[in-house]
Parts: sequence; C-alpha cells; structure tokens
Amino acid sequence: MRSVATGLILSRKLADFCHACSRRRVLGRFSSSSSGTVDPRKSYGGGRGEKEVPHLPVLIVGAGPVGLILSILLTKLGVKCSVLEKSVVFSRHPQAHFINNRTMELFRKLDGLAEEIQSLEPPVDLWRRFIYCTSLSGPVLGSVDHMKPQDFDKIVSPISVAHFSQYKLMNLVLQRLEKLGFSVCSPSEIEGSIWDRKILMGHECISIHPTNEGLKVGTSYLKEGKMEEREFHCSILVGSDGARSTVRKLVDIDMKGERNLQRLVSVHFLSKDLGQYLLHERPGMLFFIFNPDAIGVLVAHDLDQGEFVLQIPYYSPQQKIEDFSFKVCEQIILKLVGWKLVDVQVLDIKPWVMHAEVAEKYVSHNNRVILVGDAAHRFPPAGGFGMNTGIQDAHNLAWKISSMLSGIASPSIIRTYEMERRPIAIYNTLLSVENFRAAMSVPAALGLDPAIANSVHRVINSSLCSILPPSLQKFALEGIFSIGRAQLSELILNENNPVGSLRLSRLKKIFDEGKSLQLQFPAEDLGFCYKEGALVAECGEKIWETEASSVRKRDLRPYIPCAKPGCRLPHMLINALKESSAKASFSTLDLISGDKIEFLLIIAPIKESYRLARASTMVAKEFDVPLKVCIIWPKGSSDKNVNSSEKELEPWKNFIDVEEAITPTSKSWWELCQMSSNGVILVRPDDHIAWRTESSSIADDFLELKRVFNLLLGHDKFLL
Ligand SMILES: Cc1cc2nc3c(=O)[nH]c(=O)nc-3n(C[C@H](O)[C@H](O)[C@H](O)COP(=O)(O)OP(=O)(O)OC[C@H]3O[C@@H](n4cnc5c(N)ncnc54)[C@H](O)[C@@H]3O)c2cc1C
Repeated sequence: MRSVATGLILSRKLADFCHACSRRRVLGRFSSSSSGTVDPRKSYGGGRGEKEVPHLPVLIVGAGPVGLILSILLTKLGVKCSVLEKSVVFSRHPQAHFINNRTMELFRKLDGLAEEIQSLEPPVDLWRRFIYCTSLSGPVLGSVDHMKPQDFDKIVSPISVAHFSQYKLMNLVLQRLEKLGFSVCSPSEIEGSIWDRKILMGHECISIHPTNEGLKVGTSYLKEGKMEEREFHCSILVGSDGARSTVRKLVDIDMKGERNLQRLVSVHFLSKDLGQYLLHERPGMLFFIFNPDAIGVLVAHDLDQGEFVLQIPYYSPQQKIEDFSFKVCEQIILKLVGWKLVDVQVLDIKPWVMHAEVAEKYVSHNNRVILVGDAAHRFPPAGGFGMNTGIQDAHNLAWKISSMLSGIASPSIIRTYEMERRPIAIYNTLLSVENFRAAMSVPAALGLDPAIANSVHRVINSSLCSILPPSLQKFALEGIFSIGRAQLSELILNENNPVGSLRLSRLKKIFDEGKSLQLQFPAEDLGFCYKEGALVAECGEKIWETEASSVRKRDLRPYIPCAKPGCRLPHMLINALKESSAKASFSTLDLISGDKIEFLLIIAPIKESYRLARASTMVAKEFDVPLKVCIIWPKGSSDKNVNSSEKELEPWKNFIDVEEAITPTSKSWWELCQMSSNGVILVRPDDHIAWRTESSSIADDFLELKRVFNLLLGHDKFLL
C-alpha cells in the first residue's frame, strides 16, 4: 500500500485516479444485543472484530461528493472511518456545478474549501444568466439573471453561491482528505494494512450482515482478472452509494415518489472556440436551445476552458443509448451551436434517468445502517438540490455519530437524523419537480409541449404500436418529433407571424414573472428548518405550529432570519472584544467550530442571562457536553465594559465577549432573531438552534437545563 503524503505524490495520485485523530476523546463503543438495543457505553472503535478482522467505527460506501465530505467531517470530529468505492477511478463527468449558500457555509469550515472554490470558479458575470435561444449564434428568446445585489452583500450569509464542476470539487476534497491522513488504495494495495483512513477503490459492497459486534460487510474486487471477495467489520455503515444504492437495496428500503420523469443523454465535451465565443458574446451558465433540427440544454461548466455538458432528452426503447455515438453527439452539438465548430472534442457520453423519490427510511438495522445523499433521495437536477442536500445530510449526521460514539449522546440521536433530514428531502423533491415543470413551460409556450411528446411516446409504446418493428417505431417517433420541432422554424417564430408573435409574448411573460427555471431559493437554501429531532421547545410550547410546517409552493421568497429551534443560526457580523489581535469582523456562524463537538450558548450581558449561563455550564459539565458561552454586546461597547463576563461566569473559561459590528442593517442581534435581549439561544455543533428561551421566564434554571440536555441528547440523566 502506498501512502500519499507529499503534495507532489498527491497530485500524481489524483491525476492517475482522475484520468483512467488521533481520537480527541476516548470513543465509546456500542454493540447490539440480540434484543436489538445498542449500548454506547461498551467500549469499541478501531479494535479487532470477529476472527481478528479489523473493526472500523464507521465504514462509508461510495466515494462520491457526499461520502467524501462525510469522511472529512467524521475525521475532524475524531471518528475513524474508511470509504469503499466500486469504481477504480473517480468520475470526471461533471454533473453538479451549482453550490448553494448553505453548502458554501459548510465548506468555509473545511480548511478553506469555500475560499479555494471561489478563487478557482469562473467570475460570476460569466455564469449568472440562463439564456434561451434558437441556436448559440441565433436569436435570443430570453435571458434571466439569477443573481441579485443582496447575493453579494453578505447580509444573510458570510459567503455567496458558487459554480464549480463536481469533479473539480472532488479533487479539492481529496486533497483535504490526504492532509487528514487518508490514502487512496487500489485492491492490491491494502493487503494486511490498517484499514482506517483509506479510500478503497475497486471495492463493490455486495452484502451486509449484522453480527454481535456490529456489521459484516462483503465486497468484491477484481484481482488479476478474477473476482475476489473481502470482508470488513464496522459498527456503522453509511450508504452514500448514489441513486442506485446497493446499500439501500441490501437493507430493503424502498423509494417513494415519481420514477422515470425523463431520460437524458449527458455529453461532456470541450471546445475552446465555443467557450471564447460565448464568453465574449453571451456568457451564461445554462443555454436552453430550441430549433427545428435539435433541442438540448447546454451547461457551460467553464467558458474560459471551453468545458461543456450537453443534456439531450431521449425516448427509450425506440431510441437507445448506443444511437448516441460520439459522431452523432458531435452532429447534435453543431446543430445547436449554429455554425461549424472545428474543435469539438467529445470526452464522455452518459445516460441518466430523472426521478423524484425519497427513501422510506434513512436508518435501519438498529441505527447501524444509514443512508445519505442520492442513496436517500433522487431529485430532478432543476435548482441544483441533489448534491447540496446530500452534503447537508452528511453535516447533520457527522456530529450525531461522533456524539454517540463518544458517549455524549444516546444512540437514539441517530434517529433524529432521519426525523430532521427526510422532511427536507421530501420538500426539496417537490421543489425540484415544480422547478423542472417550470423549465418545461418554456418549450410548451413555444408550441413544443413536453407533455404531448410524452403522450406520443406512450402511444408508440402502447400494445397497439409495439407490434410494429422497432425500426418503424423509431422512425415514427422521430418523424413526429421533427414535425413538432418545425414549430421552431424562423418562419413561424417571429414577431410578424401571428402564431410566433403570440408565442414570443407568452414566453416574455414567463420570464418577466419569474415562472421559468430558477437557480436560487434563499428561503429554502438558508431557511430550511427542522421541525422535530434533536431540538427542544420552550417549556410548555410547541416548536412549530402546524401551519408553519405545511409544504409551501415554489416561490422566490427571501430568506428571513429566524432563531426558532431547528433553524440555522442567523448570520451577523461581530467583533471579538478584549482580543487585540482579532479585531476583524467575523460571522456568528464562526462561533461554532467545525473541528470539535461543542455546543454554543448565546446570551446578552444581563444579570438573568449570566445566571442561566452559569447554570448551563454546570449542567453541561454533568452531562460531559463541551459548551462555549458567547456574550453579544451592543454595537459600540468598549473593551473596558466587558470585564463583567469573567466575574459572572467564573470559573468557566470557555466564553467569548463579542460586539455587534457596524453593518448596513440597523438591526441589533436580538432584533434580527426576533427575540428580546433577555434571549438565550443554545446552538448545536451543526449551527442549528437546539433551544431558546427568555432568561427571565425560567423558574428553575437547573431543572430546565437538565430537561433540555436530556431531550437533546436522548438521555434520561440526572432527572430529579
Ligand atoms: C445533469 C446533472 C446536473 C446536476 N447538477 C447539480 C447541481 O448543480 N447541484 C447539485 O447539488 N446537484 C446536482 N446534481 C446532482 C448531483 O450530481 C448528485 O446529487 C450527487 O452526485 C450525489 O452525490 P452522492 O455522493 O450522493 O452520489 P454519487 O455522486 O452518485 O456517488 C456515489 C458513489 O458510490 C459508488 N458506488 C455505487 N454503488 C457502490 C457499491 N455497491 N459499492 C461501492 N461503491 C459504490 C459510485 O461509484 C459513486 O462513486 C446534478 C445531477 C445531474 C445528473
């Protein structure tokens, strides 16, 4: 086995693959008894399982973006893990490219990943628009700008969205994993080695069996032309193995939703000439092209490098993926471009099917088998929710696994992962389907209703037509489609033709009213909120009223900061007081460390809140929960005034005094949170609010805080 320690070797290793904690706390062990209960207090973690086979606390199946991000998060939190990947190389096919606000916030805490993405992504002016046209050089039917001034002013978030290809993101993630001590191994490289912190390429998960100590995971791999099998033992198995997840099938979890919404061929190609032309003439991220010869959506991954992906709908079984040879795809590209490009280089052609489904369960086998990412949900890519939701699943899960393994939380905390994340996936599925339908409103307005295309396809597939020879079916389908596309000819689609003029005005209305495909959903991207899970309502209160938890329709609501339990902590710029070296403003989100499990209690510098904070520190100590206190002082508080915190919180040292920074909004922190300055907010290690209260309203601080930590961590400790 090679360990890839140096940057030089790392780059070579990554290039090869791309082309063809020390524990901070002593981790608790859990084992399952035959009754199915899991006891976290029995020691385990990185030992040896049955028959002296190495036993990993966490084994991750699938080295896509979600599995790799999860392995970084777990490693940072002191959990040993490794990743199994069935492919022998990482895919270079750029699928995801839109990274939303919340994911970028998470990436800020992964050793500067967000900042590195920002330094490498194309300038925003090159990708802020979606362009609708009859060819890349022909008339523009409409153009929609998806960035607003507030996307740049850092008022609601310390970072903006990004446009960066999935495989480039994977490379940056792999570099971080290498720094954390991970190595990428081929099957022949792992013989007799320690299995922690490995990305085991060429290993396909084929079986999962419960054992007394956890799980036995069977894999198959190719060795010298022969399939061999290898077993792994682990306490927790995370299935991040994508939309066709084997893990999900092995543990018998079904998907619920709509299947086969559309079949597409994804063509990855390079053309410097096209990149330069678009960069200067009509820069954009997505180009929706409709003409009598072809229809397709072009994703401009990088105009400067001339890197594109073309999505072409196809109708099976009449059309087969083999029909889309390199030559055919090149011809389709030329039809959409509108002139003879000479430097088109098709790199890869991949079919994929659009579904809108969510797994019925995220957790099974006694909290030991957990699904994340596309294994748990598959959405239409409209709105770019797939990878973003998956990465946010991983972030929700990592601190819970770590808290459980270290004995801070009971194993039941794993169930809160499903309670919190599954409703978000269901919501994002609905949103993606609505957004996909909105995208379809454009061809429909042009007289090319995709619903009609689907009906035609259904008729051709029907028993009546299926007796026709396949070649005739294909001929009929293509004939009908080309008649449909004739609607797009310049003869019809122009202002002087009454039909064309009506269609163009309908199209304009769709764009003006924001009814076409949207890219950003601030209310969902930042404002998604857990309604139940590892959260505590104020005594005698419900966290959410029924009305608030009902599903809303797609609209472009702005994000409104909220400090209810389940919401992400609102962002506000603050300055540290009493730290002469750290005068630069930073975000309230930076108060929470990505590198350790630590809860955060935010208070104002008032007597009742200090009293509650003192009680919190004592209860946290009893529960063995790391806790930091942050005292937010009003704007303009001088360093001299803040000595009180030290006296009030003695002997607790883990606290920070900050003041609100001068910002364009005139709101104070407590106004932003829609609370009074008696407010107290307890924040979880994943930036979500666990509990909040008004300090003056608590009768017995200790009793209340014990109730809070018990509920939050799934314990029944120290109850009176
Ligand atoms: C055209 C397109 C555009 C998209 N654009 C966006 C976007 O802009 N933003 C966004 O957020 N999302 C987007 N998505 C969705 C995004 O690509 C996926 O959500 C994302 O790849 C999911 O990541 P994952 O790690 O869960 O799964 P995957 O990326 O599918 O990775 C799963 C991994 O598991 C491996 N595997 C599978 N089975 C096994 C097994 N049995 N044993 C071991 N390994 C196994 C696979 O080889 C693979 O490497 C887009 C998708 C498409 C198709």
